[in-house]
Amino acid sequence: MRFLKSSLDAGTVAAGDAAVQETVRQLVEAVRERGDAAVRELSERFDGWAPPSFRLSAGEIEKLVRTVPQTILDDIRYVQEQVRGFAEAQRASMGEFEIETLPGVRLGQRHIPVAAAGAYVPGGRYPLVASAHMTIVTAKAAGVARVAACTPPIRGEIPATTVAAMHLAGADEIYVLGGVQAVAALALGTGEIAPVALLAGPGNAYVAEAKRQLFGEVGIDLPAGPTEILVVADGTADPLTVAVDLLSQAEHGPDSPAVLVTTSEALGREVIALVERILPGMPTRDYAAPAWRDRGEVVVVDDLEQAWAVADGYAFEHVEVLTAEPRRALDRLSNYGALFLGDGTCVSYGDKVIGTNHVLPTRKAARYTGGLWVGKYLRTVTYQEVTDPATSAALGRLCGRAARVETFEGHARSGDLRAVRAGDPAPAW
Ligand code: NAD
Repeated sequence: MRFLKSSLDAGTVAAGDAAVQETVRQLVEAVRERGDAAVRELSERFDGWAPPSFRLSAGEIEKLVRTVPQTILDDIRYVQEQVRGFAEAQRASMGEFEIETLPGVRLGQRHIPVAAAGAYVPGGRYPLVASAHMTIVTAKAAGVARVAACTPPIRGEIPATTVAAMHLAGADEIYVLGGVQAVAALALGTGEIAPVALLAGPGNAYVAEAKRQLFGEVGIDLPAGPTEILVVADGTADPLTVAVDLLSQAEHGPDSPAVLVTTSEALGREVIALVERILPGMPTRDYAAPAWRDRGEVVVVDDLEQAWAVADGYAFEHVEVLTAEPRRALDRLSNYGALFLGDGTCVSYGDKVIGTNHVLPTRKAARYTGGLWVGKYLRTVTYQEVTDPATSAALGRLCGRAARVETFEGHARSGDLRAVRAGDPAPAW
């Protein structure tokens, strides 16, 4: 494999991590120690935003929804139906069962929703309306009773369309609050915001790092930081489609990598030329241009087998496959958050409209997790019951032996008792 365009850190840990970690640590501690006062101070400092209450009242929400054009509300409802439909199908695919493994031994599995979830809907640079569908609709499809949703103000304004989407998705509480202060408030609780059990949603490097640091005190969905795109293309791909789709993700922010892995050097060169031609005219070039300059890569490989291996090595959030037989990727690739097969679809469909979830793993987290889905809001728990005294006694004798191998005398005695009940001689203890 060889690089037609390389970058410092498309597929590696981004520079500046340590600084972000330290900043976030200090901000989280401030919220932990001083609650609402710190939240207010940080919101003022980072977003110029300190209203009397961060929570929107029902009246304020209604007023904001009325400012959103009807066609946009209809589109939001339509997309939320797609997201709900897919999430409900996922829920239906999750089996609850009870099996009899030995006479009178019943073992079962259930899925119980968390009682309260926090939904982070990003909005520092753009109003990420679609993240409201992804986090809130999915939580509700899982049966979460309380969903507290946060989104930052954009340049001092409440993002009305995002609020409308949060409301239509079924959020129980809506706060105009962003960044680390929102994540920490939801996780730890303050006077104004009751804590949640699980936090979900994408965000910039600060938001993603705050979730990472708070994990344990609160559940998190997954590390979903600055977005990433990798396109696998052969000589049959349309270079303009490749170029436009790479830029569709680079525009998220200067820390969003965009990588092309191709079997065709000619295609690679054409894509580079097209990107350079399109970029200066993009309204979002201030984000897309540095992203392409510092984190854009074009890799030429010998054949598709090598392309699959390279793509799996990057383990990117989004992988788009623009080859003659795109469905082959289903058998070949395994490290990705979401896969986009063929040029009939694209990452933007997944981001905005199609129904699969767009909250997806970044920074190689795709090696160990998929994206947000209904199961992340559910706790898969087990239960057991033994109603046959003879089986209970047999298990008691086995438990006594197994526990004493580990020198756990207390555990062993619980087993002994069940065996004695079935007629075994009383033990010496
Ligand atoms: P955001 O809501 O994530 O962050 C905005 C907040 O960041 C502000 O409210 C502010 O409080 C805080 N902030 C800004 N600068 C700060 C600083 N120097 N120190 C501390 N806090 C600071 O919105 P955004 O910035 O527009 O980022 C959205 C991100 O979400 C993008 O990176 C995008 O790629 C990502 N995203 C990821 C996925 C995914 O699933 N992985 C999906 C959609 C979006």
